[in-house]
Amino acid sequence: MGELCEEFEFFMRTVIYILSSGRSGSTILEMALGQSNDIYNVGELQLLCLEAKINKMPCGCGKSIDSCDFWGKVIAQHSIGCSENILGCLRNSNRHGHGKAFRLGLILDIIFNFVKHHSRYFDYNEELFNILFRQTNKEIIVDSSKDPYRLFMIKNMKNINIVVIHIRKKLLPYLYSNTKYKGGLWVNLRNICRYYFNFVLMTYITNRYFPHKTINIEYSDFIVQPEKYINIVRSHCNLDSIKTLENISFSSHAVSGNRTRHSSRFIKLDEKWKSHLPKFLSFLKNW
Ligand SMILES: [Zn+2]
Repeated sequence: MGELCEEFEFFMRTVIYILSSGRSGSTILEMALGQSNDIYNVGELQLLCLEAKINKMPCGCGKSIDSCDFWGKVIAQHSIGCSENILGCLRNSNRHGHGKAFRLGLILDIIFNFVKHHSRYFDYNEELFNILFRQTNKEIIVDSSKDPYRLFMIKNMKNINIVVIHIRKKLLPYLYSNTKYKGGLWVNLRNICRYYFNFVLMTYITNRYFPHKTINIEYSDFIVQPEKYINIVRSHCNLDSIKTLENISFSSHAVSGNRTRHSSRFIKLDEKWKSHLPKFLSFLKNW
């Protein structure tokens, strides 16, 4: 019986991993998920040690990461902590867009399911999540690191269930959010390639490794009916439905490179991309 209870307890531990290209709604989704008492959102976890070092963006609590008690305790309990930036091996800058999109070695690992040489990263993260479950006393943690390679590298964590939310924007709103269409045809073409490459890579990983554990959400659908999608995620995690979600207020220790996090927000659809659309992209209007 004791064994059964232990297994059940471990089974309940879930990481909700938010997968997305940059500026596709991952922050607002993560904040919305973290509004209830049974889910804890920790932001872009892979930036933790980088932020602790450069202290550029404050923690969600308003303090810098290295003076925040919550993260201080977490880092102190970890056998490696932030003495080496193992966590940041996929991101060495907190600037937007610095997660490299094309990594040939890792793509081959994903295709052939080679995980052995990522064991250090994997062990580090497994220990980190277990500390977070204990410290928050929650069974569900939201990691909005977004990065598809990170998802692959942590996918075999023992006794931790991973539920993936793949949130994406349509092409033109994505281009507007990332560059405001500036930079002319070349920059926009490069971003279009990045958009489709990410889409194919993320879809491949979720179809192959998380076939029954992925929720696909389109950003504007989420903004129009946030409760519907939050409840789909909650039912995947065996949680009760919530009724309303209007004003998203920030009150956690989430790590992030995104400034919009540090304010209360109403969920509303931003359609500025339509009125700023340059002529050379207008043929993409219906994509
Ligand atoms: Zn904090």
